[in-house]
Amino acid sequence: DKYVYDFAEGNRDLKDLLGGKGANLAEMTNLGLPVPPGFTITTEACKAYLATGREPDGLAGQIEAHLEALEREMGRRLGDPDDPLLVSVRSGARFSMPGMMETVLNVGLNDHSVVGLSSQAGGNDRFAWDSYRRLIQMFGKTVCEVPGEEFAHALDEAKRAKGSTDDLDLDADDLRGLVEAYKKIFAGHTGREFPQEPREQLDLAIRAVFESWNAERAILYRRQERIPADLGTAVNVVTMVFGNLGPDSGTGVAFTRDPGSGAQGIYGDYLANAQGEDVVAGIRNTVPLQELEQLDPKSYHQLLDIMARLEGHYQDLCDIEFTIERGKLWMLQTRVGKRTAAAAFVIAGQLVDEGLIDLDEALHRVNGAQLAQLMFPRFQLDHDFVPVARGIGASPGAASGTVVFTSARAVELAAEGRSVILVRRETNPDDLNGMIAAQGILTSRGGKTSHAAVVARGMGKTCVSGADEIEVNVPAKRFTVGGHTVGEGDVISIDGTTGRVYLGEVPVMPSEVVQYFEGSLDPAHVDNALVRAVHRIMTHADDRRRLAVRTNADTGADAARARRFGAEGIGLCRTEHMFLGDRRELVERLILAATDTDRTDALAALLPLQRQDFVEIFREMDGLPVTVRLIDPPLHEFLPPLEQLAVNVAVAQERGEDVAKEEALLAAVRRMHEENPMLGLRGVRLGLVIPGLFAMQVRAIAEAAVAVTRDGGAARPEIMVPLVGAVQELETVRAEAEKIIAEVVGDSGVEVLIGTMIEVPRAALTAGQIAEAAQFFSFGTNDLTQMAWGFSRDDVEGAFFWRYLELGIFGISPFESIDRDGVGRLIRIAAEEGRAARPGLKLGICGEHGGDPDSVHFFHEVGLDYVSCSPFRVPVARLEAGRAAI
Ligand code: ADP
Ligand code: MG
Ligand code: MG
Repeated sequence: DKYVYDFAEGNRDLKDLLGGKGANLAEMTNLGLPVPPGFTITTEACKAYLATGREPDGLAGQIEAHLEALEREMGRRLGDPDDPLLVSVRSGARFSMPGMMETVLNVGLNDHSVVGLSSQAGGNDRFAWDSYRRLIQMFGKTVCEVPGEEFAHALDEAKRAKGSTDDLDLDADDLRGLVEAYKKIFAGHTGREFPQEPREQLDLAIRAVFESWNAERAILYRRQERIPADLGTAVNVVTMVFGNLGPDSGTGVAFTRDPGSGAQGIYGDYLANAQGEDVVAGIRNTVPLQELEQLDPKSYHQLLDIMARLEGHYQDLCDIEFTIERGKLWMLQTRVGKRTAAAAFVIAGQLVDEGLIDLDEALHRVNGAQLAQLMFPRFQLDHDFVPVARGIGASPGAASGTVVFTSARAVELAAEGRSVILVRRETNPDDLNGMIAAQGILTSRGGKTSHAAVVARGMGKTCVSGADEIEVNVPAKRFTVGGHTVGEGDVISIDGTTGRVYLGEVPVMPSEVVQYFEGSLDPAHVDNALVRAVHRIMTHADDRRRLAVRTNADTGADAARARRFGAEGIGLCRTEHMFLGDRRELVERLILAATDTDRTDALAALLPLQRQDFVEIFREMDGLPVTVRLIDPPLHEFLPPLEQLAVNVAVAQERGEDVAKEEALLAAVRRMHEENPMLGLRGVRLGLVIPGLFAMQVRAIAEAAVAVTRDGGAARPEIMVPLVGAVQELETVRAEAEKIIAEVVGDSGVEVLIGTMIEVPRAALTAGQIAEAAQFFSFGTNDLTQMAWGFSRDDVEGAFFWRYLELGIFGISPFESIDRDGVGRLIRIAAEEGRAARPGLKLGICGEHGGDPDSVHFFHEVGLDYVSCSPFRVPVARLEAGRAAI
């Protein structure tokens, strides 16, 4: 097997094998860009190592051969005492996992080659010893698990001895001393001397990179980002180039457009006289990339040329890492860059304008999760809120919460349901848990490319980074800013778009994208790149999609909003909400009815109220279909809870009051108690045992439709019977309903469809029979999921879902995204057999899944006619339905 590829042998399509970093280094090499020579060890080698605990046969020999070729090309031998070749050993998986795995720089340095390195650099001892101490530090931490703080501590100690806080003030002798201190720390923790043999360093570093695939933080990150656990990482061995050779050297990171807003123009950070990891770690403050034009105009312009070439080549925003070694530019990494949701839309629109991609491709490059983010509320600042600090808007959104200073505390408070803002000087991969738990992240150091910024953008979390007016004191659990002291437990608000930080809780307002959907921002007239781009891409999605999008709405107001958001009807109007509030008393009367007349009276009193609800909804949805579900939940849900009632009765009795009514109610509640209400007397079963209940609802619907139509409107009601498991249930309800409808509708021209939910597995499995009696099916995927799995949504989330997610039994909760293999199979069967029995049978879905991007793609594949989701999800479903169709 071939386990090692020279950079010249790979290309960007080999990401599975070479990882993203390796594939793109190869691509740049083949574009003729200045990439330091090197080779990539494949993910296959990593997988083999992780499976067996040892390097696969043949790997060592192949590494040897590629190393020799590299040495020949560079005219230097790895770790040669007089003129050493040094390499970096870098992780790089299929999907970018920023900072999650390991990299070791300067491999090949030892007590002898450090001298050779110095003469290579023209007698630069300081540089050589600085490189050596970095190797021991990185190697110790990564390969041998020596606690990083110990090295950091020794470095601080050396700076203190020098009376400085800047590592640039340490001279060659100080650094030589530091190397000695580091070696002692290394030996103290590992029980062995720091390995002097270059090839041993290389092999151990490669092995450590393999193993870093299973580091705890990498596992956590993969779970969060839904990256499969079995991909493995590639390992890149790259000739070292040095940004720490003096003021004419340096290192930086850049984006070809602003990854925050999508605005055109270069965007990046540069740090002179430093090695790559210094920039990301925020050790020293970087300068904006534009300043490189003064420092080194030749490299600067070469860099701009390369960035333009990369954009043209990848036809997308790229991010890059580069190093300048004494005026010579080297490219160390590129990839299609992460970006905020807003930038994703704006850039997709720009690239269409620039003729680089077409509208289908633009639609492909954005997604519903991003659109959902753009619909988050914004701070409403027309109040007296003055920012206390301003940092970099690193990841957009508006977040308020309680200040915490440690990842652990963030997790604790979030578990109590509190909204927290994690405040740190800078974050590192160990903060990942806290970042996941927090509502927002605030750091006092680091730019748009810092760890906090990159990870927060990836998670869609609000983040302000580099707010340097803030003095963070983690041990004392407080920060100070402009004379204010903010401690753990105080509330602050951060704006990840503007980078502003406020004390207290700032009220929020709808985002611009929501204002656009609401119709209050006209894309033809606003000077807002984001709104224009969203409009353009949404329009294209609507052109492309085959699935219709309806909404779940129970009130006229919800219906109206959803319609503005693009809903093409109502897929689920629940009627039980119409039994609450002051109507509860009528429902009680219905339940307690001792005689037919009592019951008929109660129903007669409910009828006009229900009718009025439907009139409002039909008016708002004029001309569009409205699916009304007959009452579904068990009736005791409308009665007071048993304990409360028992207490009331006892108290009233004590006072000598008349408790006949309460006692009757109490008896009814006892009688109706169910051990397992989810599987009890509900849905169609209610209709079959309580005479007149469904009839009243059907009458209310039909009368409302006739009333609206007589007023010149067009009502298109679809009556949906819940929880059907057998065709006979539906036939019984339907026979009664049709009689009422015929009587009410007369010659008004109103047409009322009757169909059923498919939410009991038996219904899915007998869909061919049920379709004979149903004019449409609507998949109730919430219940269908509960019943297919045999667990109740309300009970399982906290009880064991975490464990199932941990074990990988689910990749994601089946209530969030449709379980294709199980529940999805039931849907397929029902769709196929239903349509075979009744060609043209209308099929829709009305569970929460209707607004979930992955599920929408599944429903498209299965051939449903529409999805229905909550009003706010309607635009997301429109976008994803369009994406599913291209
Ligand atoms: P990550 O994936 O965490 O960014 P990298 O493998 O890219 O890790 O490396 C960490 C840092 O070291 C980056 O800033 C990178 O540019 C720098 N670096 C890696 N290899 C070399 C090299 N051969 N010469 C100089 N700098 C390097
Ligand atoms: Mg990198
Ligand atoms: Mg249901």
